[in-house]
Amino acid sequence: MKTMRAAVFKGNGILSVEDIPVPVIKYPTQVLVKIKAASICGSDLHGLMVPPAQYLPVGIVMGHEFFGEIIECGENAGGFVTGDLVVVNPAIPCGTCFACTHGHKGICDHNTHYGQTCDGGFAEYLVVESSQLYKVPDGITADAAAQTEPLACIMGGITKLQPKPDEHILLYGAGPIGLMYIKVLAALGIRHIAVCAKGERRIQEARHFGAEIVIDSQKGGILEILMKRWGQKPDAVIDAVGAGTIFPEAVEMINSGGRILLFGFNKSARSKIAPADFCVKEIQVVGSRSKDFPAALSLLSEGRLDLDELVSHRLPLSEINEGIALMRSREASRVIVYP
Ligand SMILES: [Zn+2]
Ligand SMILES: [Zn+2]
Repeated sequence: MKTMRAAVFKGNGILSVEDIPVPVIKYPTQVLVKIKAASICGSDLHGLMVPPAQYLPVGIVMGHEFFGEIIECGENAGGFVTGDLVVVNPAIPCGTCFACTHGHKGICDHNTHYGQTCDGGFAEYLVVESSQLYKVPDGITADAAAQTEPLACIMGGITKLQPKPDEHILLYGAGPIGLMYIKVLAALGIRHIAVCAKGERRIQEARHFGAEIVIDSQKGGILEILMKRWGQKPDAVIDAVGAGTIFPEAVEMINSGGRILLFGFNKSARSKIAPADFCVKEIQVVGSRSKDFPAALSLLSEGRLDLDELVSHRLPLSEINEGIALMRSREASRVIVYP
């Protein structure tokens, strides 16, 4: 039996790089992907907390943000062929729930998820359903392609928020997702981006990647700073953190007619808000978790977005635990591992 290196979740916050059997194609609709690069996500860190902030079954290979090459195809692999370079939408819809049968597969109630409910991409190889694949256009680097999944999540949020170039946007969070939001907003021509960031390193990075105003979230005084610099309240707020304190703050600060995008999520967070504010200011609130892979790949292929810039650390798969430690200590903004 052929074996491969893979990062396996052992429970209790332990991720172990070990030799396991190379997976084999079981259905004609599947393909075998040789993983070329994978990105560590903030939610991987949640799964490795003790107790875990996100449940992961013991024994699965982690990793849901990855890029690779098809090296073997089932007989009915949806037009994909050996040699295709692909990214994978890790959320596999059940196909039968209300959301799935009403055109909203992205918010399926019972999806399976590579790297979270079944084996994922922190490995040399993975068997993937061809329905989840997207061909990567020429000219996109492996490091950028490995980040297509978080970008697809962000594009899902952007599609709902519909930010316009002359708007003033306040973004909470300058971690791996917040920084990517800054770059996407800038690529879409939005000039007025203010970011609430925590820690000197994140503050510097937010500035470097194109935020017009960066506010130290530990110092506060957000609205005063915005009024002084912009002379107005934010037209839209993006919460890429999901802490319970942010939503009420956004409701209070936002301009009349403003929109709030709830993106970062933390299932145990709770907020206390005044419902009347929504009526008085006609605030619109939208949550987002579906992924828009075509929008992400089109932005990357047009060369409008350089995601390589976001990568702070590049490591072999065998050193994935070092990468996770670097993200935990906020020294790393984006870690790519190579199986
Ligand atoms: Zn992720
Ligand atoms: Zn479903």
